[in-house]
Amino acid sequence: MKKIFLVGSPFCGSTVVGNILNSHPHIFHAGEVDRLRIFSRYHGADAYLNVDGCTLCGLHHGLECPVWDNLPAAPQTPEEAVAVYETLIARGGKQVCVDGSKNVDWLASLHDHGLQDACAIVLSRNPFAFARSHHKAVFDPYWRGVEIWRNIYNHCLRALLHRAIPFIVISHSMMLENPDEFFSMILKFAGLRGGVDCHRYFEVEAHAVGGNVGAFLSYSQFNKAKYFEREAQQNRPADEEELTEKSMQSASPFERSDSAWMEALSLADIDAGLSIPGVADVMSLLGYSPAALVAAKIEWDLAKQKADVPPPAVSLRYPGHHAAQNAVLEQVVVV
Ligand SMILES: [Zn+2]
Repeated sequence: MKKIFLVGSPFCGSTVVGNILNSHPHIFHAGEVDRLRIFSRYHGADAYLNVDGCTLCGLHHGLECPVWDNLPAAPQTPEEAVAVYETLIARGGKQVCVDGSKNVDWLASLHDHGLQDACAIVLSRNPFAFARSHHKAVFDPYWRGVEIWRNIYNHCLRALLHRAIPFIVISHSMMLENPDEFFSMILKFAGLRGGVDCHRYFEVEAHAVGGNVGAFLSYSQFNKAKYFEREAQQNRPADEEELTEKSMQSASPFERSDSAWMEALSLADIDAGLSIPGVADVMSLLGYSPAALVAAKIEWDLAKQKADVPPPAVSLRYPGHHAAQNAVLEQVVVV
């Protein structure tokens, strides 16, 4: 059984990539296996990082998980961890297992203690998109997020290169711009023929551990009420509005974009990030052009300035509220 590890930063889209790959008949998406409590990777960290089973079955009363139920006892040595890992992922019953833990140290530990046939996909999100998501999660300034991004990807690349673990580098933005090419590159790397179903992958049985909840909303087994109940129990009440917003977005990468960073970050924020030593180098190794990202941001700002007129619908509901809205209203009346 071939093991493909998705490695990279948080918010790199690994859950949706894994779930889409899971629609291939020979791929089992195992999810964030390093979060299983029996592996003790997050002992002493946030309690919610430790889980005991798969996301979908865990959110469904009375559903028995064919993969992650009846977990063995916690392994006592790193070698035992490798044996337990192989036993568990074999339950997925496919030729290829995709481990979405993202944590390259997890892969390194398994590899260094005997795991065979491991390879990796370095899945990147551009540093500014990461910085925006990171800021939303922990309120760090954007430059700090960019620095963390550099450290994570620098570490990923070095850990893989030093161990001669085969890998490819691929970006989240490529998945949105050209999903066909993105997934065919991964399947070629995995040595598999056939394709994945980007539009209806959520109709295929899935048993992934952990992951971004947004990537599970389209599955029929996803139980929203149970999700809210669990989040409240774990003292981090879920944002119902955000979840509703997410559930209204298309699950297919063909209909999504990743431009929120251009709205959130100023050119000065981007300058501050690019000025951190090593950021441009790591971007270059991952296939990003710093100049192209700056150019895209400038174009975005210019386009926004040109189109900065409130939509007529708003003007009609609130006439007289704003000079520009009045102008629009007059045009509408004249027409
Ligand atoms: Zn399950």
